[in-house]
Amino acid sequence: MSLIGEGVDILKLVNKAQNADLYKQIGEWIEKVLDLQKRNDELTMERNQLREQARFKGVLERVNGHTFVQGDDEEICPRCAEVDSRAVHLISVHSEHKPYQKAGCPDCKLEMSNNIPYTRALASRN
Ligand SMILES: [Zn+2]
Repeated sequence: MSLIGEGVDILKLVNKAQNADLYKQIGEWIEKVLDLQKRNDELTMERNQLREQARFKGVLERVNGHTFVQGDDEEICPRCAEVDSRAVHLISVHSEHKPYQKAGCPDCKLEMSNNIPYTRALASRN
């Protein structure tokens, strides 16, 4: 093999090595971009949830210890409203404790002290 031939071969190897490094760096860069994209998606989702929670808490109304959503006269579960930012209407449930019927949450099973879910008008009277 001629010297020039060898040089060309070495040059090819150098180029390959440089390209391999470049490929490796591009690969790492792509991974970083994907990680950032994933993190951005997570933060966007978190922001939307916080926005929704803030909006929801803004429409909550408390009347003498009973919780309502603005424009809705049926009592909702204070725990689900506070913790999960969800409006779950209370229902009458069987209770182990007197008077054996309580307003309760069908979701988290919280029992209120009142025996039936209150309307806003009823809550206002107490
Ligand atoms: Zn609940």
